Amino acid sequence: MSTRAQHYTAQVLQRAQLSPHLVRLILGGPGLAGFTSTGIPDEWVGLVVPGQFQSRYYTVVSYADGELVLDVVVHEHGLVTEWAARDVVGESVTILEPKGSFAMPSTAGWLMLVGDLTAIPAMARIAATTDVPTRIWAEVPEVPPGYFPEGADITWLDQPGEGQSRLAEVVEGLAWPEGEGYFWMAGESSQMRTIRKHLMREIKLPSTAYDVMGYWRGGAQRQPRAVDPGPIYRAGKQAGKTDEEIWADYDNARDS
Ligand SMILES: Cc1cc2nc3c(=O)[nH]c(=O)nc-3n(C[C@H](O)[C@H](O)[C@H](O)COP(=O)(O)OP(=O)(O)OC[C@H]3O[C@@H](n4cnc5c(N)ncnc54)[C@H](O)[C@@H]3O)c2cc1C
Repeated sequence: MSTRAQHYTAQVLQRAQLSPHLVRLILGGPGLAGFTSTGIPDEWVGLVVPGQFQSRYYTVVSYADGELVLDVVVHEHGLVTEWAARDVVGESVTILEPKGSFAMPSTAGWLMLVGDLTAIPAMARIAATTDVPTRIWAEVPEVPPGYFPEGADITWLDQPGEGQSRLAEVVEGLAWPEGEGYFWMAGESSQMRTIRKHLMREIKLPSTAYDVMGYWRGGAQRQPRAVDPGPIYRAGKQAGKTDEEIWADYDNARDS
């Protein structure tokens, strides 16, 4: 049996700017013919754009009549971001097979969805597929018009800055409904790590009652190099430097 992920070639049929940071792409063409949605409402696909071999993940907004809709956040810089920021209609991309993660138990009496702009495609699709009373918190640079149906219980939060998020703080301040329910959250990875701990340690939700996913990694800085501090420390001491000066030398060596 092949372990290679199913992949499909698709053409960009349409590109629409939904809001300053959100671009809708409608993909289609004969290469998508065998594509089958998992039906899981937060399902995503890998997207490989022309001239690249690395994929990035995007939520399936919808797949119907041979057309696959993806909403792409255009942030400061990035492989897909820079591609999607221009007119890409007619270009060919590769789509990798869909996968999903949302698994709300049938006994859930409430649903809470929290995320940033990258998560609103999933939150909107999840909200549209459930009758369970749903509250949504979305941290965004701007509100894309008409993204959620009229009457959705949604709290819009201002994003503190490009590539920044305060979602962990927001979730730590939430009041939790009584009884059994389901919590779904996606956004910047370090915020998600904090919230997983919070749910486990403070809220004590069973692991079947939540799904918290890191959708992207903040911190555009390069990872520091692994540098042995020993020789730097000894050389600094010999040169009569203070500890502060030596640690500054160490940081410089890691960044160089
Ligand atoms: C399951 C899943 C579903 C997802 N669904 C969507 C979706 O529907 N729509 C969507 O837009 N994204 C979605 N994402 C997030 C998306 O895959 C990442 O944001 C991805 O890194 C974007 O790729 P890029 O090529 O633009 O930037 P990259 O080349 O990956 O990154 C370049 C730089 O940009 C920073 N960066 C990456 N993403 C962001 C961001 N959103 N805001 C600010 N800085 C960022 C990185 O830290 C890095 O420094 C999803 C991720 C997962 C795991």
